Amino acid sequence: MSTIDNLPPLREVIASHQLSARKSLGQNFLLDLNLTAKIARQAGDLAECDVLEIGPGPGGLTRGLLSEGARKVVAVEKDTRCIAALNDISAAYPGRLEVINGDALEIDPLTHLTPPIRVAANLPYNVGTELLVRWLTPPQWPPFWQSLTLMFQREVAERIVAQPGGKAYGRLAILAQWRADARIAMSLPPGAFTPPPKVSSAVVHLTALPQPRYPADPATLSRVVAAAFNQRRKMLRASLKGVAPDIEDRLITAGIKPTERAEQVPLEAFCALAREVKRS
Ligand code: SAM
Repeated sequence: MSTIDNLPPLREVIASHQLSARKSLGQNFLLDLNLTAKIARQAGDLAECDVLEIGPGPGGLTRGLLSEGARKVVAVEKDTRCIAALNDISAAYPGRLEVINGDALEIDPLTHLTPPIRVAANLPYNVGTELLVRWLTPPQWPPFWQSLTLMFQREVAERIVAQPGGKAYGRLAILAQWRADARIAMSLPPGAFTPPPKVSSAVVHLTALPQPRYPADPATLSRVVAAAFNQRRKMLRASLKGVAPDIEDRLITAGIKPTERAEQVPLEAFCALAREVKRS
C-alpha cells in the first residue's frame, strides 16, 4: 500500500503491468506519490472541479489528483499498455476516474467533462507546448478551463513567465500572459523522474483571466508579435515593415520607439500596437 491510497506503490504497478518507459512517447515517470500529491495541490481547490489529465502513464499524478479530492478526473493516455493500470485506479475510486485511450492532439475530451474544469499534466515537452498554445488560443474567451497546471522543461517554463528585457521573453510569454496569470509553481530536478531526463523541469500554473488583460484582436496581436519576434534582433520599424502601412507612426502612437527591439516591449504596448494596426 502507498502513502496516499490503498493501491500498490508505482514501482510495483510498473513491474506488474510491464510498463518499461518508452522514449518515443516521452515517458519519464513520477514514482513518488507524495510528490505527485504536491503537484496536484498546485492545481488549486479540486473538490468542486472536473480535472482533465493528459498523459497519465502509470497514474502517479492521477492518484495525486484523486487523493487531493478532484470531483472527477478524465485521463487521456496514448499508450495502450497503461490502460489496465489506470483501470485499477478507476476501480479504487468508483465513478471518479474516466480513462480514454487516445492521442490528446487528436481527440476532444470536452464532452466527458463538466465545468468548472482544471487541466493538469506531465507531458512530453513537444506535446505540452502544442496543447498549451491550443488551450491559450480558443475560438472564444473565457476558455473551457479555469486553470492549467503543466510540467515543462525549466527553459520552456521560463519562457512562459518571462518579463520584457531578456532572451526568454517572446511569443509564448505574450500569448500566456495576455489572458492568464502565469507563474512557476514548483521546480523539479531530473532525479525526480524515472528515467531521469537530461534537463530540470518546472510546473507552471496558469489561471484564465475572465477577459484579456488589455483589449486587442487576437489574430492581429498574434500577427504583430510573430513578425516582431521572428526578427527579434532588428529594430521594430524594420521587423514590422510588412505588417501595416506607416508602421513608424503606429509604433509611436502605441507608445513604442521605432528603434526598439521586440524583447524590450511590454505586453500592454504590443496590445496598443495591435489596436493601431487593426485600425489600418
Ligand atoms: N503523468 C505520468 C507521470 O507523471 O508519471 C506520465 C508522464 S510521461 C512524461 C508522459 C505521458 O504522456 C506518457 O504516459 C505518454 O505515454 C503520454 N503521452 C505522450 N504523448 C501523448 C499524447 N499525444 N496523448 C496522450 N498521451 C500522451
